[in-house]
Amino acid sequence: MNFNKIKEAEAKHYMPVFSRDNLCIDRGEGNCLYDVNGNRYVDFVAGIATNILGYGHPEYTETVCAQARKLMHVSNHYYTAIQSEYVERLATASGYDRIFLCNSGAEANECAIKLARKFFLKSGARKNILVSKGAFHGRTLATLTATGNVAQHEKYAPLPEGFLSFEFNDFEDFKRKLDNNVGAVLLETIQGENGVRPFDNDFLVNAYALCKSQGILFMLDEVQTGMGRTGKLFSFEHFGIRPDVITMAKAIAGGLPMGACLATEEVGTAFDIGDHGSTFGGNALACAAANKVLEILLRDNGLLEHSASVGEYLGEQLAHFSKYNFIADIRGLGLMRGIQLTEKVPAAMFEGMLREHGYLVNVAGNNTLRLVPPLTITRDEIDGLIAALDKVCAATCVL
Ligand SMILES: *Cc1c(COP(=O)(O)O)cnc(C)c1O
Repeated sequence: MNFNKIKEAEAKHYMPVFSRDNLCIDRGEGNCLYDVNGNRYVDFVAGIATNILGYGHPEYTETVCAQARKLMHVSNHYYTAIQSEYVERLATASGYDRIFLCNSGAEANECAIKLARKFFLKSGARKNILVSKGAFHGRTLATLTATGNVAQHEKYAPLPEGFLSFEFNDFEDFKRKLDNNVGAVLLETIQGENGVRPFDNDFLVNAYALCKSQGILFMLDEVQTGMGRTGKLFSFEHFGIRPDVITMAKAIAGGLPMGACLATEEVGTAFDIGDHGSTFGGNALACAAANKVLEILLRDNGLLEHSASVGEYLGEQLAHFSKYNFIADIRGLGLMRGIQLTEKVPAAMFEGMLREHGYLVNVAGNNTLRLVPPLTITRDEIDGLIAALDKVCAATCVL
């Protein structure tokens, strides 16, 4: 099927919700993608912070294929050894005793929201969830309501009740909103979709301390920042805090659909039998994949250490670009970086020029280029991106 036929069929049959790039991906290898015309791209998108092992990772691929041959899915009415092996590994690695497995980030956050509501059910109060402006937590009705995109809210009203928001990074506003009706706070340490915007260290430390002192659940959405993305297994480890609940998805199973909600023993046991569930959640194939990803990430001299070291390197290399007057800000941690451009230079133009040089990046909020490559990305591949970015900046200077 040629590319035009592919586009026609999509245009005719897919619900028109995506504005896709004019690029049809055929296959992946290592940290690169190939389009249907055989062009090669070094991938700094990674399915949006998802394909942390890159493409065709031999050990991972072998595990997934072997599990597919053995058993893909059974109902959660039954036990499987692979699910129990995985939750044990994840609990040990994370320090969270209670885990619920689902299929996406939105579902992981739905689970966290339901868990918070159930946790405070007996008290009869504390129904509200406090979220940040500019947040992204998913596209189900509840997670959309928790997401700071007001234009989207208007389209899907009436929305679930009990969500209120504070100004990003504004501790005074946060404190003001944290009244007796708030049971839980849900936020990202770095707002990925909003253009890789990190909360200040002080904000996170103070917000966490305040929640602890008032018995309010501190819930972190680690869907994008987790799984070694920032150089630690979870981003909260950078701030010396320990949330009551964290949510995961994206990279958790290396490219297979999966999500998880992790909680302390006290909070996680607020659910009783029948309170929550999922048909596919934690199925054998997803668990085998996630189990292997976590093993590869955490073993000695493993991927986590590599991620931390190349992530720092990427940050150092990007810092040089602040000399250009059309670069407004460079933000992020580890292998999660954002380059914000000034209004005169559309980030989409940069994205297109980088693609012509063989590098895929994507545009997140606030005219920002987002870099979230596989954690297997090499220094050479980073050097290549930096060289391409140099050329694009030089070309932009003469415009
Ligand atoms: C992507 C993302 C989600 C939503 O995940 P889906 O799997 O698309 O539902 C939620 N929170 C954050 C921080 C994300 O980056």
